[in-house]
Amino acid sequence: MTNKLRYFVANWKMFGHLNSLNSLNKVIKFKKKNKNAKNLKIIYCPPFTLIHPFIQKLKNTTIKTGAQNCSFGSNYGPPTGSINAMMIKSLKCEYVILGHSEKRAKGETDNIINRKIISALQNNLKVIFCIGETFGQRKKKLTKKTLLSQISKGLKKIKNKKNIIIAYEPVWSIGSGMIPKIEDLENTTRIIKLFLSNKMKYKNPKVLYGGSVNQKNVNLLKNITNLDGFLIGGASQNSNIFIDIIKKTFN
Ligand code: PEP
Repeated sequence: MTNKLRYFVANWKMFGHLNSLNSLNKVIKFKKKNKNAKNLKIIYCPPFTLIHPFIQKLKNTTIKTGAQNCSFGSNYGPPTGSINAMMIKSLKCEYVILGHSEKRAKGETDNIINRKIISALQNNLKVIFCIGETFGQRKKKLTKKTLLSQISKGLKKIKNKKNIIIAYEPVWSIGSGMIPKIEDLENTTRIIKLFLSNKMKYKNPKVLYGGSVNQKNVNLLKNITNLDGFLIGGASQNSNIFIDIIKKTFN
């Protein structure tokens, strides 16, 4: 088994209701029974409404739960409709996705993301920190500059980075069915890892790829040298497909 690919993060986005919990049964069984799956980190990130039910459902398993966003500020406060890291942690939730491009597109700046990451870490959440270039940036050959700037600004003033996983998600690839060329991904993930180790002083950084991962392209994606796993949106909502993707990384 080659499995250096240890992380499989399921981003359910704005999908799912209480009946969706039944679909976890297959993944729970797979994680328990398949010897290759035992050491994997499978992390479900459902919408806020399902975090508590997911934690209940997954409590005697090794599958973890994450939120898809959080506000900054660690106390109770007035921003109506907001949920902060302290509240997420109080549910025994362990992870949070931050910096997702669907949030950046709605005006979330690097500075806001940085404040959210700090707040999440202060509340002992592990962070899945998303970075990615737009199609326009890629065409203008600004991919490297964009990614390194997002990393530096997002991680500003953060010394202990051991609980931060980077998810490289080209914006144009999310939900589009398109993935970068494998040689481009090799190159970009190598640049990200080198920057994290050399400039950001990360020990043993973890980098995931996200953007239209499916049962077909995973056969190509699994061979990328610097990847530690995948952040999977659409394809993670169907347990059979999600399991199939994971299984395809086993050889
Ligand atoms: C995502 O939203 O983080 C994502 C990777 O989505 P998809 O797999 O559907 O492209």
